[in-house]
Amino acid sequence: MASAYDIIVIGSGPGGYVTAIRAAQLGFKTAVIERSYLGGICLNWGCIPTKALLRSAEIYHYFQHAKDYGLSADNVGFDAKAIVERSRGVSRQLNTGVGFLLKKNKVDVIWGEATLDAPGSVTVSAAPDAPRNDAPKGALGSGTYKAQHIIIATGARPRVLPGLEPDRKLVWTYFEAMVPPAIPKSLLVVGSGAIGIEFASFYRTMGAEVTVVEVLPQILPVEDAEIAELARKRFEKQGIRVLTGTKVTKLDKGADSVTATLETPKGNETVTVERVISAVGVVGNIENLGLEKLGVKTDRGIIVTDGLGRTNVPGLYAIGDVAGPPMLAHKAEHEGTLTVEAIKGLPVHALDKAKIPGCTYCNPQIASVGLTEAKAKEAGYDIRVGRFPFIGNGKAIALGEPEGLVKTIFDRKTGRLLGAHLIGAEVTELIQGFVIALNLETTEEELMHTVFPHPTLSETIHESVLDAYGRAIHI
Ligand SMILES: Cc1cc2nc3c(=O)[nH]c(=O)nc-3n(C[C@H](O)[C@H](O)[C@H](O)COP(=O)(O)OP(=O)(O)OC[C@H]3O[C@@H](n4cnc5c(N)ncnc54)[C@H](O)[C@@H]3O)c2cc1C
Repeated sequence: MASAYDIIVIGSGPGGYVTAIRAAQLGFKTAVIERSYLGGICLNWGCIPTKALLRSAEIYHYFQHAKDYGLSADNVGFDAKAIVERSRGVSRQLNTGVGFLLKKNKVDVIWGEATLDAPGSVTVSAAPDAPRNDAPKGALGSGTYKAQHIIIATGARPRVLPGLEPDRKLVWTYFEAMVPPAIPKSLLVVGSGAIGIEFASFYRTMGAEVTVVEVLPQILPVEDAEIAELARKRFEKQGIRVLTGTKVTKLDKGADSVTATLETPKGNETVTVERVISAVGVVGNIENLGLEKLGVKTDRGIIVTDGLGRTNVPGLYAIGDVAGPPMLAHKAEHEGTLTVEAIKGLPVHALDKAKIPGCTYCNPQIASVGLTEAKAKEAGYDIRVGRFPFIGNGKAIALGEPEGLVKTIFDRKTGRLLGAHLIGAEVTELIQGFVIALNLETTEEELMHTVFPHPTLSETIHESVLDAYGRAIHI
């Protein structure tokens, strides 16, 4: 029997569950369909469990440097199993929390795999054998469900490159890398985007010999070149081998090792490692949804939308990773919120991708928003650039974190903030100051007249802005 909703959301990742809750807040009768885990990749296999792993690594790192702080910590060690268990526990806690929030907001959960039959109609059947949680208590089951509006939030999965096919044992994706039975002695990370670099940082801190291979000339390819270069130097100082402009052409698997052939700018070489992590990007989950039947427009693995989640088929929307980059949880959440608010008829602006921050939680952290220096120049701006190193910041020195940089980019003509690029301790928290500034279309004057608390790392924001106008105090 068909049940009727105002809105059905397919997928309960950060895009899907936030969208469903916002829809319910707006008075829509709402259901969310999920086949695997409430909270999607982000809470179960992405953002959150990686941060839990990285937190263990960070504390381990501090223990190893206890002497620098006048402390002693002998026999510092770790239990890989316990680290993974803690990370899984954090995911479980949040996964349960999503179930609670959906219930609190009277959003129905339908458990199973969704396929679109026709506009406004979805069939849900028992999910295939993907790893998954049990259905939450009270969830509805297989059947046909109707809704006036259907929002696809099915997320993404690891991209697989020919020759680099993951096998779960020797060649990992983020799924296996998240739950290692032990820390491998040596590791090859293919791809230096945020996912690859976070795993490289985690495993290196835990003692693995790590090689990172990137086909492009720069690691962290979406970041400002100057920040990426500083990151590279820090990683190399930590003992990570970084090879840019390098391609993995072949993997030869042994019983418990892999020999990779690398095409480097200096010629071919081979490297033998215990495990390989393939982190060459993600692709949208657009298959088996019935999109072709409905004539939904897709482009290279993502659903094409108009900035308010609308596809080319009336009543059908897509948000989050499946609707294209930047493939980030906060983008998914925001896009979903805009979509249901637009359905409600509220006055909303289309998603502005230029104002979405990106963070990488490696050591040192990296965060950015807006245009890089190269992109600002490419766009024809005459720019002013401010730079402030952490060594000029009292709090950074007190924390024992004097290495870092805040770089700000302004339009010389109007004083408009165009972009901010940060590397160093806690910059993933600092970046939000710039995000707010960008959203409020702040000028250099307003930022210079803002009072920053002392002593905080946030003073580096102020100083970087001052530096763009030749007024920095502490350098
Ligand atoms: C290792 C890693 C680390 C990351 N770290 C960060 C980070 O620090 N910050 C950040 O912003 N982003 C991070 N990301 C990216 C982030 O996880 C994604 O951008 C985010 O999860 C996208 O949300 P979503 O709702 O679009 O999709 P997802 O979270 O992928 O959720 C989609 C859901 O849809 C379900 N689904 C799919 N098809 C169907 C179907 N047919 N029927 C029913 N259910 C279906 C899936 O089971 C899944 O639960 C990370 C990703 C990875 C892999």
